[in-house]
Amino acid sequence: MSRDQGEFLVGRVVRAIGGFFYVDPLTEKDNTVECFVRGKLRQTVPDIMVGDKVKYCLENSQGVITDVLPRETILKRPYISNVDLLVVVFAHHNPDPIPSLIARFLILADYSNIPYILVFNKSDLVGKGKADHLANIYRNYGYQVFCTSVINNFGKRTLLKALSGKVAVLTGPSGVGKSALLNMLRPGLGLKTGLLSPKISRGKHTTREVQLLKLDRQTYVADTPGFSQISLGHLKPEDLAPLFPDFRDYLGYCRFTSCLHHQEPGCALKEAVENKEVDDQRYQSYLGLLSELKKSWANRYR
Ligand code: GDP
Ligand code: ZN
Repeated sequence: MSRDQGEFLVGRVVRAIGGFFYVDPLTEKDNTVECFVRGKLRQTVPDIMVGDKVKYCLENSQGVITDVLPRETILKRPYISNVDLLVVVFAHHNPDPIPSLIARFLILADYSNIPYILVFNKSDLVGKGKADHLANIYRNYGYQVFCTSVINNFGKRTLLKALSGKVAVLTGPSGVGKSALLNMLRPGLGLKTGLLSPKISRGKHTTREVQLLKLDRQTYVADTPGFSQISLGHLKPEDLAPLFPDFRDYLGYCRFTSCLHHQEPGCALKEAVENKEVDDQRYQSYLGLLSELKKSWANRYR
């Protein structure tokens, strides 16, 4: 049967613009196909989004989307479905890594239920010894950690391997090198790095089309960084401690089952901190975030 006679294909939406969807075939090496949605489907599935796996067919070389496959996940910032990996990016230096900010990003990543890795970029600014030291601290907490430098391509191959076959979104505070990393992963992209001019800064009210960039067959990275406004307001105080992988061995042993590990007597986590089994710095990051969550929940139910 000729491809133009209604054979169904499956692909991934990599870009959506002006009512058209650009779809990469999942099963073949073919190029991106421009698709639109039939009126009938438009009523049942009003919002096909970037990342969606869709069924489509070709009619005179024009793609027609006929169905959207169930979404595994939906990320809100950027608005993409079926993301397989969040890449939480920090820098070794300039800006210096702030433990409580790292904890905050890692917790949001964990809470999103999407697998994630931690990347410390700008290794060139600190040298190997210092870079390894920081990475190992986070490895010991239980995270998967990579060090990179876009100056000398350090860590590029290892990072590409971690992304292979996945749809990834980079996230992290500004200035850590997310755009530079995208450029490193996909040379020729030419994304602007450095300070954004006020005109093009991505403020709260400016939306930007998100696009999946193809790194190789079945490997994609979003051209827009993920959440950088990082309120934890939706998290309940009691949900916080389990999101610290290095705390998990000590949870469930406190005197009170409702223990928030702050001022409660008989707290197994505090004991672990006193015995230096849990890093005090991580515990302090926890307390900072806990007090923020307590306040936001208190406001909610006032
Ligand atoms: P973003 O805000 O996270 O997207 O950060 P950018 O990609 O815009 O990078 C911020 C600044 O850090 C730019 O001036 C980059 O040239 C610089 N930069 C990015 N990666 C590295 C790196 O690995 N080493 C060094 N020395 N500078 C870097
Ligand atoms: Zn406790």
